[in-house]
Amino acid sequence: MKLGTSCQVCAKPLSEGEMRFEKKWKGKAYFACCPICFSLLQKDPERYIDRWLSSGLETWARK
Ligand SMILES: [Zn+2]
Repeated sequence: MKLGTSCQVCAKPLSEGEMRFEKKWKGKAYFACCPICFSLLQKDPERYIDRWLSSGLETWARK
């Protein structure tokens, strides 16, 4: 499991096998836990990823 990878929408921790829903955005990969979270992330990545980044929690996936 990669350290600190969580669903970018609901913050659920993800194991490597659960990282199936990948959204590439501005050169990095972000992950969602399920099709519902993924569709939210697809629709409005800026909203979720910005919120994540501005929370100060460095738990998004880096590439
Ligand atoms: Zn989720």
